[in-house]
Amino acid sequence: MLFSQIIGQQEVKDRFIRSVSEGRIPHAQLLSGPEGVGKLPLAIAYAQYICCEHRGARDACGVCPSCLKYNKLAHPDLHFVFPIIKPAGKQSAVCDDFMGDFRKLVQEKTYFSVDEWYSRISGDAKQGMIYTNESEEIVRKLSMKTYEAEYKVMIVWLPEKLHESAANKLLKILEEPYEKTLFLLVSNAPDAIITTILSRTQRIQVPGLADAEIKQALLDRHDGLTEAEAADVARIAGGSYLRAEMLLEDGNESRVNFDRFVTIMRLAWQVGNRKDHASLKTLRKWADDIAASSVGRERQKKFLQYAQRMVRENFIYNLHQADLNYMTSYESDFSVRFSPFINERNVEQLVAELALAERHIEQNVNAKMVFFDLVLKIIMLLKK
Ligand SMILES: [Zn+2]
Repeated sequence: MLFSQIIGQQEVKDRFIRSVSEGRIPHAQLLSGPEGVGKLPLAIAYAQYICCEHRGARDACGVCPSCLKYNKLAHPDLHFVFPIIKPAGKQSAVCDDFMGDFRKLVQEKTYFSVDEWYSRISGDAKQGMIYTNESEEIVRKLSMKTYEAEYKVMIVWLPEKLHESAANKLLKILEEPYEKTLFLLVSNAPDAIITTILSRTQRIQVPGLADAEIKQALLDRHDGLTEAEAADVARIAGGSYLRAEMLLEDGNESRVNFDRFVTIMRLAWQVGNRKDHASLKTLRKWADDIAASSVGRERQKKFLQYAQRMVRENFIYNLHQADLNYMTSYESDFSVRFSPFINERNVEQLVAELALAERHIEQNVNAKMVFFDLVLKIIMLLKK
């Protein structure tokens, strides 16, 4: 992984490069920040830069024997620790059992979520963990002599998933560091790491990406995407490239949810204000349409989550602070007329009703009932 393959984050890259040129590489560093901003790729690129035999002023060379192995994440002095899911029926499992999957995912996607990793190795999004026996593996790997590079590097992805006893072992190692060994911890939730480990590491805060950086990265990676579409997605992504990719993936779904949201809010308002072209019957039809089994519970839940977001965004819209709003251009066009109906008297209740409906769908309550009931509540609340 080269620094140039990573979106933005120039300050972090400069800091890493400076630590190498000044010969002051802290032995344990913790990269923390939101998911999807490039922390793991930054750690890998940093390690590659440190070990590169012909490093330049801004990046590793990419072609020396060390870089060639790093490009495949297969350098003998590069080690990874990450949460795994023990396969059913197996007594124990260690990260090396999953190394092939991990290499593949990093190389394919560069940016990926922990859920994506779990579903890659287990078929669904169960919770993973760094098991106790991994600590023996860490000690074994650190005790081996360095094969080729000056430094041995151990990248711990998501130390917050360390089992308690594994965390204590890691702490011991950090307290009495092995020579020429670097630890790069990469965390989405540093608050969940034991403080004794935190105090042994140098903290590097990796910030969210700028909208313009995300926009450009999307345009570079997706043929046929227009400037306006990329700008829209970048704005909603809130600094996370991963989120931008996910938004793009279910772009069609978002549009469908938007149309559903607009329809229900219009109809509910019209019925509430006795406009004769709307009736409870049309609302019932709307509820029946979304409750249809062909839509499915997952998509029904997604709509309800989307609707909660839209209600909140419209409330914020009233504050006239554009930088607080995360909406696409078509969403904010609608908000010009819709936002006056969302106010401090109904915002919380609307969100609560939508969240309740989401829970009911989750619990397999009859969807037709859930959505029709929701529609009636929306009629009442929009009049407030
Ligand atoms: Zn190199």
